[in-house]
Amino acid sequence: MILVSACLLGQRVRYDGRHCLREDVRELLAGEPVLALCPEVLGGLGTPRPPARFVGACFGREGLDLLGGQARLVDDTGRDVSRAFARGARVVAGLCRQNGVRLAFLKDRSPSCGWDPQGVNPQGGPGQGVLAALLQQMGVTVREVRSSARGQV
Ligand code: SF4
Repeated sequence: MILVSACLLGQRVRYDGRHCLREDVRELLAGEPVLALCPEVLGGLGTPRPPARFVGACFGREGLDLLGGQARLVDDTGRDVSRAFARGARVVAGLCRQNGVRLAFLKDRSPSCGWDPQGVNPQGGPGQGVLAALLQQMGVTVREVRSSARGQV
């Protein structure tokens, strides 16, 4: 089973109510058993929702810092949404464990799904989203998908 960020397959679950369909990802996964999930929606956050940013986290370990209580996620209204992000990531991680997921395609620049520990994405974003941190701990191979690029999967 392969996990993929739901927005990459066309589900309108992004903070702005839009999707970021990657046709090449959809084609790559055609015929494969896939779990297409959005941790933020599963954590109880609505769509659309204000964007959120890490506060107090070290680059490259933002997700771990949040899960360990050393950092927070705060949305543009000033609301602390750390618990919702952590809850959603744990729900997705649990489903991955139940379904034997070993590979995940996650959207870049997301505080949940982002995975860019070397900081090489020219558009920036966190080095480690909350879900990405949990999947790494589980030994799942995470591949970042740049939503603004083509042919990089
Ligand atoms: S990047 Fe992840 S958290 Fe953000 S909308 Fe897509 S699936 Fe949901």
